[in-house]
Amino acid sequence: MHYISTRGQTEAMGFKQAVMTGLAPDGGLLIPETIPSVSTQKLKAWESKSFIELAKEILSLYIDDIPPVQLKQLVDEAYAAFDIPEVIAMTSVEELQVLELFHGPTLAFKDIALQFLGRLFQHILEVEKGHLNILAATSGDTGSAAIAGVSGLSNIDIFVMYPKGKISNLQELQMTAAPAENVHCLAVQGSFDDCQNIMKSLFGDIGFKERYHLGAVNSVNWARILAQIVYYAFASLKFNGSNPPSFVIPTGNFGNIFAGIIAKKMGFPIDKLILATNENDILARFFNSGRYSRGQVHYTLSPAMDIQVASNFERFLYYAMGSDSERLCRFMENFAKEGTATMDSYETGTILATSITNNETRTAMRAVYKNNGYVADPHTAVGLSAAGRFSVIGQKICLSTAHPAKFPETVDSVLGENLVSHERLNKLKGLESRSITVNADQDLIAKYIVDNCRA
Ligand SMILES: *Cc1c(COP(=O)(O)O)cnc(C)c1O
Repeated sequence: MHYISTRGQTEAMGFKQAVMTGLAPDGGLLIPETIPSVSTQKLKAWESKSFIELAKEILSLYIDDIPPVQLKQLVDEAYAAFDIPEVIAMTSVEELQVLELFHGPTLAFKDIALQFLGRLFQHILEVEKGHLNILAATSGDTGSAAIAGVSGLSNIDIFVMYPKGKISNLQELQMTAAPAENVHCLAVQGSFDDCQNIMKSLFGDIGFKERYHLGAVNSVNWARILAQIVYYAFASLKFNGSNPPSFVIPTGNFGNIFAGIIAKKMGFPIDKLILATNENDILARFFNSGRYSRGQVHYTLSPAMDIQVASNFERFLYYAMGSDSERLCRFMENFAKEGTATMDSYETGTILATSITNNETRTAMRAVYKNNGYVADPHTAVGLSAAGRFSVIGQKICLSTAHPAKFPETVDSVLGENLVSHERLNKLKGLESRSITVNADQDLIAKYIVDNCRA
């Protein structure tokens, strides 16, 4: 399988190189040259597979430059780190199925991809005897999940930028409490979008990127999307009744939902994908109007989705534009220049989109708690609230993206004190925290990397 760039100016490369490259040198995102389609027979045969077995099947369709035995071992090791052997869990809440993706080491869905990606990096570096400097921007959960995937490794340094004061205390502590020597946390005075911009522009400086072997763990990295396809596939096969199921996805950077789009393209039985944003509604506005236009960032109860410019949206646009890189480049250029761009003649088709306010988030949290005794984290609640707005014919499956104990301030104030906790989070309290505060300045951050990376 070869990987190409959405912008069409990068030579095709194999999977391992795509993983190490992160963002394509032409500024685009890497995607597989073709999307493998799965036959009806195979779908039938896969219905009874466990999550881990299905992961091995799906990953091997996209990865042909790692020997199968080793690939399977990487998958086994990644998911052995989870709290439950099934990796993911399902709960019914009234007529909805809630798919809990947060049973990994840092209690957010990001672990599903990042436990695998961390091991993948390690495997590739061992073979190539290299050193990697991971540069990440986080809206709260990617940072800790990426750190959990690579902490303590001698051939990787990880630099994580997060918006200072804009993530929850526990999210911050999960990164900064007693970090290993290879972990470098930067509290940036700005928004997540500022962090993501700095990351993208340092990746765009090809000289710098190559000299310092920059690697990406954000969902610009194709391996993130790939690993996330598995839970859509798994749940779609489980709930494929007389009609295929639909998914509801709380969305920030469009990474989670994009994996669902690929699962559907592969042939898994999926009807609609319901996109739920918080008050940062740029994506909801696009899907309802065709106009993509940047707004002011709002700080909400679901901080991991306080994002204006979603990097994976470019992958979606590429396919929506009939794989026409030139047309995509014009759209992205327009957007970069004007802060707005329009896509004519677009059929939304499988994606239904809406945005949810803070008040609606609280209402959804209270309703599922009162009626079902279920404590949803505020990101999941955005999805639960959106689920009520659309009727679909098959089973509706809401993705639950974080453990509620990660957001005690919100859960306590909305539902009452001491309803949720998690042992791993309790242990963080009181540990010494290490991070540095920096301005949202690309040159300063580049210098920090140069001064602190170990190779
Ligand atoms: C990252 C995150 C999201 C948004 O996922 P995207 O892939 O950015 O759309 C939603 N909920 C939680 C808890 C997250 O950490």
